Amino acid sequence: MYMSRELCAAASASEAVIMRDASSAYLAGGTELLRSGTERSADRLIMLKNIPELKGVSGETPEAVRIGSMTTFQEALGSDLVPAYLKEALRYMASRTKRDMATIGGNVALMRDDSYLAATLIAAHAKLELLHWAKPDSGESVQDRFGCPDKNGSDLEEASQVRGDQPVREAICIRRYLQHREEYQKDLITAIMVRTDICVVSKRYANTAESHSYLTAAMGYADGRFRVGVSLKNAGVFFPKEFSDSLGEDENAETFARFANSWAGLDIPDDLYGSTAYKRYLLGVTLENLYRSLKERISSGQRTDGRKGETEA
Ligand SMILES: Cc1cc2nc3c(=O)[nH]c(=O)nc-3n(C[C@H](O)[C@H](O)[C@H](O)COP(=O)(O)OP(=O)(O)OC[C@H]3O[C@@H](n4cnc5c(N)ncnc54)[C@H](O)[C@@H]3O)c2cc1C
Repeated sequence: MYMSRELCAAASASEAVIMRDASSAYLAGGTELLRSGTERSADRLIMLKNIPELKGVSGETPEAVRIGSMTTFQEALGSDLVPAYLKEALRYMASRTKRDMATIGGNVALMRDDSYLAATLIAAHAKLELLHWAKPDSGESVQDRFGCPDKNGSDLEEASQVRGDQPVREAICIRRYLQHREEYQKDLITAIMVRTDICVVSKRYANTAESHSYLTAAMGYADGRFRVGVSLKNAGVFFPKEFSDSLGEDENAETFARFANSWAGLDIPDDLYGSTAYKRYLLGVTLENLYRSLKERISSGQRTDGRKGETEA
């Protein structure tokens, strides 16, 4: 088992990003990083729990909600602002104990092939707020130059500002994060932005509620366009853009079966979760069902997520 050797507490988001180097990792709820046998650990963990700006849920505009990355699954389920489609995905984490600890930012950063949230966030066209520390004058890390970890985060921040380095904030679409994981590896996810003026439906398959899922699929409808997100165990997390763009308002079963059987670039393994043929079949019928359910809601005038979803204490 790999153990982390040092724990640093960051007091602000910019302090956290300046502490982050190749041998460290951000520590959120710790359900992955601190679990026995994890392969994700690092020499130094940068604790995020004391950073106020990473916490809380706020209604940015009537159409969008900002969820701080340190918001736990359970806190999000307890918010009236979080749309019902996201609550549905949050409940895929069946263990209440884990929901009390695990954060939304930690889940997005992991982007596992059995992710609870990835398919839904992709279909919902969610955006991520990211923070990184720009070092325009050299490729050298701030830690190398200033001798972290002997210096604390505030010293580093001050030193970097004197040299003209800047914290850079960026908002990107979750699909971009998925496609360019390497580029964003050291970035701190500060928040997830989700829309409330859209319709999203999802479906997760697992042997038991607490087992890893072997397929999670989601479909969203926004601005007259359909969007599909898929997580497949031992295959990855996907956004089939061409297929999503091709969907119109009058598709039939054939469309989805054809797509699932011929999706180029999707290598579905034959494993304990099921044969390749079975998983392709399941993907086709699941997408068809999601499409039908979206269409029903659209035709009954529910184009936005008017359902608030049950709020949990
Ligand atoms: C028994 C068990 C079963 C699990 N099953 C599933 C499953 O089916 N599906 C699933 O998706 N997950 C699963 N997990 C993994 C994990 O519980 C969740 O993904 C959880 O949401 C991670 O959040 P956390 O806050 O605990 O992250 P942490 O463990 O603290 O961190 C996870 C990773 O995210 C990085 N990170 C955390 N916060 C940020 C941030 N704000 N910005 C950038 N990087 C960050 C960390 O550096 C680390 O690499 C399981 C874990 C256990 C122990």
